[in-house]
Amino acid sequence: MTIDLHTHTIASGHGTADTITDLAREAAACQMSLLGICDHAPAMAGAASVSYFRSLPRCSRKRFGVSLLFGAELNILTEAGDVDLEDSVLEQLDYAVISLHSPLFRRQSAAGNTNAFIHAMRHPNVTIIGHPDDDRFPVIPDDLITAARKFHVLVELNNSSLSPDGYRGDAAKTDRLLLQCCRDHQVPILIGSDSHGCSHIGDDRYARELIFQTGFPPELIANDNPKLLASYIRSEILL
Ligand SMILES: [Zn+2]
Ligand SMILES: [Zn+2]
Repeated sequence: MTIDLHTHTIASGHGTADTITDLAREAAACQMSLLGICDHAPAMAGAASVSYFRSLPRCSRKRFGVSLLFGAELNILTEAGDVDLEDSVLEQLDYAVISLHSPLFRRQSAAGNTNAFIHAMRHPNVTIIGHPDDDRFPVIPDDLITAARKFHVLVELNNSSLSPDGYRGDAAKTDRLLLQCCRDHQVPILIGSDSHGCSHIGDDRYARELIFQTGFPPELIANDNPKLLASYIRSEILL
């Protein structure tokens, strides 16, 4: 795909030693137009400190001909939707992904997990619900997607969840339900590779397969509709 906003660098603390520059170079080689970097926020073991995220707005937005956005993958910490970067830092970023990760979020009922996502949507620049297909954190699809519509947040279809070596259980089963709700409520999705380092940047093959199987409407895929994406992320480089 030409737009991928879910990628990680060495600053995430695991899975890769690749830097922002390495990812941008690879994105250019893959003929991508827009690359988003969303490293894990500070509560995750080994992740960068808050000063890294404070510095991102000063980074160059164009490398090797690829436009760059800088965000964060936030850890939702409580059912009340508390996250691990302050709103003042989030306000300076282009976007934020909200995710439930073990062991930072203690497993709850589907209602509890769904509430956590919904409450986290209140923070500035929250644009994407990250991998809501994780079997370990079941959600109530209709409630989640209704809230996504209300708070103007995109729903991620995470390619890594769907890969044969994915570790989020039967993600495809949940994704089918989420896609149906997105269709019913006209909420757009955003495919993300969740690549740690260069190896899977822009990889959308499993997500596309599921989209094909379910007949999900192309006009609701934000990766393929820059104008639609621009209505969620207010960045000059998208104008
Ligand atoms: Zn994640
Ligand atoms: Zn991620």
